[in-house]
Amino acid sequence: MLAEVITVGDELLLGQTVDTNSAWMGEILASRGIALNRITSISDQAEEIVAALNEARKRVDLILITGGLGPTRDDITKHTLADYFAMELRMNEDVLKRISAWFHGRGLPMLPMNKAQAMLPDGCTVLPNPRGTAMGMWFEASQDNRPQVIISMPGVPYEMKGLVEEEVLPRILSKWELPTRFHRTVLTQGIGESYLSKIVNEWEENLARQDVSIAYLPAPGQVRVRLSAVSMDSEEAQRRVNTELNEFLNLAGEHVVAETDISIAEALVELLTQRGETLSTAESCTGGAMAAAITSVAGSSAVFKGAAVAYANAVKIHALGVDAADIERDGAVSESVVTAMAEGARERMGTTYALAASGIAGPGGGTPDKPVGTIWIALATAEGTRARCLKLGRHRGRNVQRTVLECLAWVLRTARSQNKD
Ligand code: AMP
Ligand code: MG
Repeated sequence: MLAEVITVGDELLLGQTVDTNSAWMGEILASRGIALNRITSISDQAEEIVAALNEARKRVDLILITGGLGPTRDDITKHTLADYFAMELRMNEDVLKRISAWFHGRGLPMLPMNKAQAMLPDGCTVLPNPRGTAMGMWFEASQDNRPQVIISMPGVPYEMKGLVEEEVLPRILSKWELPTRFHRTVLTQGIGESYLSKIVNEWEENLARQDVSIAYLPAPGQVRVRLSAVSMDSEEAQRRVNTELNEFLNLAGEHVVAETDISIAEALVELLTQRGETLSTAESCTGGAMAAAITSVAGSSAVFKGAAVAYANAVKIHALGVDAADIERDGAVSESVVTAMAEGARERMGTTYALAASGIAGPGGGTPDKPVGTIWIALATAEGTRARCLKLGRHRGRNVQRTVLECLAWVLRTARSQNKD
């Protein structure tokens, strides 16, 4: 079944609010086998709402509208829909009780404009919203003898989400018999999507025959790969996806850093926790970004001991024990310095692994033999220290981001390979 989303609100068009409602609905509907055909964002104007609705009704059976249900004058969705469906606005006593209870519970006085929120189109099904004062509304209509449902919900994301999960989805699932969509996402790192696609080319060509679809979701330094299948039989869809995913994992090998939809940092924290191992970082050009990525994961305290953000040479020398002569001879962006940084961190912070990065993140500061994007990274372990030179681009933010991913993935692969021994 196809659906469309219409988001209403001047603030969406002015760029003051980012339309996250559509993305969230697109994802949850897809997981139930309902594909979004189109997302339309419009201003708080009756003629725009009517035009968008008329257009969408020509195309799909289910239309979800968010926004424009607030108590203030600028919110006109409810009035527009009542006019559109030729319904009267009537005081709904149940809803009035809910709204008064809502204000009472917060110790706030109820204003006439809040009371007016209990005035609802008399022919719609009210979808109770325990999180706020704007109720959801479910309108039934038909187009060319096909039943159609038009749903209006408040724009506040958590109110909308509550309504979708508790009211809208259960009603949709009992009204229409829908296939389920099963998908699994894996995370690859250090290989561009075109190279990855080349490695798995033959397998990918065969996918359509297995009724499994693939999506590449690239971000700097990493690519998520999502396989999905739609079927009336959910177990069958799972089986198809799992079979193909195993094949993909074999082909992509080392490039896969996580077999579920998690970040590299999450995968790393999970693995090191299992192994009872610890990590520290010594960061020059990443300025603490490695530490930030790791500590953003709940539970990282079990594995992460600390970071030395050693930006100035003096700090590399005093905080990490880098030899001033190495810096003098090779420069701060060099194999010898980054190796000493990693070893200094590992020794001083007493961790199983220590990562270090020192480079020219850009956009300035490059030289002919060390152009912008030259970044040395090192990993110190009990077996010794290895260093590598990354040759990245000119964009400072992306260089830092890619360095962080490269470093975290390095520890992940190293720890995993020891797992196999
Ligand atoms: P409304 O139902 O129009 O009164 O919306 C209330 C608030 O919800 C707005 O002030 C926005 O901050 C937020 N909002 C509305 N539409 C969206 C949307 N599509 N995505 C995210 N937030 C939204
Ligand atoms: Mg609004």
